[in-house]
Amino acid sequence: MVTDFKVTMQNTAPKFLCFDKLQTLQVNLGNLCNQQCQHCHIEASPSGNKIMSRSVYGASCTFSANFPGITVDITGGCPETEPEF
Ligand code: SF4
Repeated sequence: MVTDFKVTMQNTAPKFLCFDKLQTLQVNLGNLCNQQCQHCHIEASPSGNKIMSRSVYGASCTFSANFPGITVDITGGCPETEPEF
């Protein structure tokens, strides 16, 4: 079961639901990677199967377009291996 992000934030850190200025949007693409490092905190590998969907990619692009000048920090696996990237 996937918990709604806003509900999770309200229950854990409600002060972060409001902000004055967005500087960085970190986007975690998933755990598909062309490497398999021992230290990887998301246990990424060539067989990683947690991959961001096209709809979330689209939502991320739309969201970031509304904040010109922000830094988009892409993380999670190897972007070049992501089929939707
Ligand atoms: S995401 Fe980074 S740390 Fe993880 S396996 Fe790939 S290269 Fe290594």
